[in-house]
Amino acid sequence: MALLFLTDERFLEHVAGKKHPESPARLEAVWKGLDNLFLGDDLVRIEPRIATETELLRCHPIEHIKALEALDANGGGRMDPDTRISKGSWDAARLAAGSGLAAVEALIQTQAETAFCAIRPPGHHATSNRSMGFCLINNIAITAASLIAKGEKVAVIDIDAHHGNGTQEIFYSDPRVLMISIHQWPLYPGTGSEEEIGELEGKGFTVNVPLPPGATGSTYRSALDKIVVPLVEDFQADWILVSAGFDAHREDPLTDMGLTSGDFADLTLNLFNLAPKNRCIFFLEGGYNLQALTDSVTASFASIMGINSRPESATGDGPGVEVVNRVAKSHGVIL
Ligand SMILES: [Zn+2]
Repeated sequence: MALLFLTDERFLEHVAGKKHPESPARLEAVWKGLDNLFLGDDLVRIEPRIATETELLRCHPIEHIKALEALDANGGGRMDPDTRISKGSWDAARLAAGSGLAAVEALIQTQAETAFCAIRPPGHHATSNRSMGFCLINNIAITAASLIAKGEKVAVIDIDAHHGNGTQEIFYSDPRVLMISIHQWPLYPGTGSEEEIGELEGKGFTVNVPLPPGATGSTYRSALDKIVVPLVEDFQADWILVSAGFDAHREDPLTDMGLTSGDFADLTLNLFNLAPKNRCIFFLEGGYNLQALTDSVTASFASIMGINSRPESATGDGPGVEVVNRVAKSHGVIL
């Protein structure tokens, strides 16, 4: 069993701002989470690579790329009130975007079971022409776009506590990408209602599961069983890409959800088992309590690697099951 691990010290160079929750220390917390597993030779380091302009252009117009480049060349600045370019950010962003591409190449070559891109800045809030919510460019979308360009079908499952609005927007009318986001509602960025289901040829291929604050592991497991598993199986995805935000943890300072690291272990294992062999990639998104982030990474990859390491038990009895049932029904899943 091998886990490909893509990360880079250059991701530490991106500084979102003084006392900003999306800090370089987050990445070190993630590294610690994997170190705790002592995977030895089962952890295979793969060098990320910088995404090329052609690869970025699949998701972002040239004007937006040029605007980011110009800001970087001028020493940095703000893209929105909480999204900033510092010295080193643009290199980090293009390297984060290229990590998933390198993971695809390495999974095909090595036949390793799965890959984890421990990257920052995160990506899922970045729309085609707007950097927002700590995200400059959309890492997971750039990988999905490169796969569909080769004729593959991609399911993107976003378990970050915030709605994956950027990924949704980029593929909103594209039936080659099934985008399912499970998130807290209401919460930043304010999108991700049940009624947002895609448009034109993409109608029905966007699925939103907006859960109430306090939702626990049982609700998430129910969303997986009743929505994610049947829809992904029906879609016949060639690849599963996971926006692995860990900010639905109950200790997270930015959200109000009720998950523990034990719940993340269940979620990631279920998503891994749902994917075709060697075709599952996890992308780091949010997660702002450092200890919770370490524990969640430890528990998640322990479960995939078959190691018994759960810093916290799974949770149950939270709200939101009625939302799960309603979304399943509206997307034609027969319960
Ligand atoms: Zn988030």
